[in-house]
Amino acid sequence: MATMKAVVFKGKDHIAVEEVPKPVPRAGEAVIRITTTTICGTDVHIVRGEYPVKPGLVLGHEPVGVIEELGPGLQDFYTIGQRVIAGAITPCGQCFYCLNGTHSQCGGALGGWRFGNTINGAWAEYLLVPDARANLAVIPDSLRDEDVMLCPDIFSTGLSGAESGKIKVGDAVAVFAQGPIGLCATLGAKLKGAALIIGVDSNSKRLELARQFGANVTLNPDDGDVIETIKRLTGGRGVDVAIEALGRQETFENCLRATRPGGTVSSLGVYSGKLVAPYETIHAGLGDQTIVTTLCPGGKERMRRLMTMIEHGRVDLRPLVTHEFALDEIQDAFDLFSHQRDGVVKVALHPYVLSGVRTTRSRERTAVSG
Ligand SMILES: [Zn+2]
Ligand SMILES: [Zn+2]
Repeated sequence: MATMKAVVFKGKDHIAVEEVPKPVPRAGEAVIRITTTTICGTDVHIVRGEYPVKPGLVLGHEPVGVIEELGPGLQDFYTIGQRVIAGAITPCGQCFYCLNGTHSQCGGALGGWRFGNTINGAWAEYLLVPDARANLAVIPDSLRDEDVMLCPDIFSTGLSGAESGKIKVGDAVAVFAQGPIGLCATLGAKLKGAALIIGVDSNSKRLELARQFGANVTLNPDDGDVIETIKRLTGGRGVDVAIEALGRQETFENCLRATRPGGTVSSLGVYSGKLVAPYETIHAGLGDQTIVTTLCPGGKERMRRLMTMIEHGRVDLRPLVTHEFALDEIQDAFDLFSHQRDGVVKVALHPYVLSGVRTTRSRERTAVSG
């Protein structure tokens, strides 16, 4: 049996590079050779034991690669060697949820999220893509891996925060937390036509990126009362839409406090434990607010749309890719990313770069300053 190198979840706080069987596609499935992937905040939750997955699973849900092998039924639609991405969420396109328009919940709650959750993921030399016809999106020739590597999850998720919030032209929007997803939500607010975009974070480097991604005002909670300032900036009302991009009780509550009566809280964070809405933040339940949650939209049509925005120069996500590593160096990459050291925003991981060759030279990309 052919094998491949992959990063396996061994249990709480333990991942390891191991040789595992190379996947073989069945009907409707494809195998892609991964050229670039990345680490997500969700992977950090998994490794820390805060989100349960089975030990032995290959992690990672953000694949960029080349078609290596096609299962029966796909030959008319794809060719070997095509450069492709697949979304972090891989809907089947056939089930109750897909046909009712909630593709991310394919098959049941969170069911569309398969890679690195319920099936082997992208931190490997090869990845099996289920329901390939619904999920493989061909990368435009003019785009490099680094241009599109955030489409499978971060860009799709961040943008969906603005879309689900139904931002209108002229709206005032606050985005709580400016990590990779918050930054893409800020960008989404700009694309949707918000007039005032307020980025909130306690990391000054990230606030700088927030301004680059469309925020006209940035607020650091360490410098003063954020809610008071937001009220002052919006005629005492609060924003039309607040986007939660962290997954904490505190930011969720602040989103409710920052939103005007009749406004919308669009929540992207992954919460654990209990989430509470204090009665005054929802005006005793009579504030006409909308709270909406969204799991990353996936599928090939979503990926095509996102890549089109990059292809035509409307969006440039490269400033978010701050570091590069070989897949072999996953421990270093994970350590850097999970502790947010050295100004890291997102890391690119390359399974096919020999350890220490390309990465030592270009580990710290210059994209942030450039
Ligand atoms: Zn993710
Ligand atoms: Zn489905």
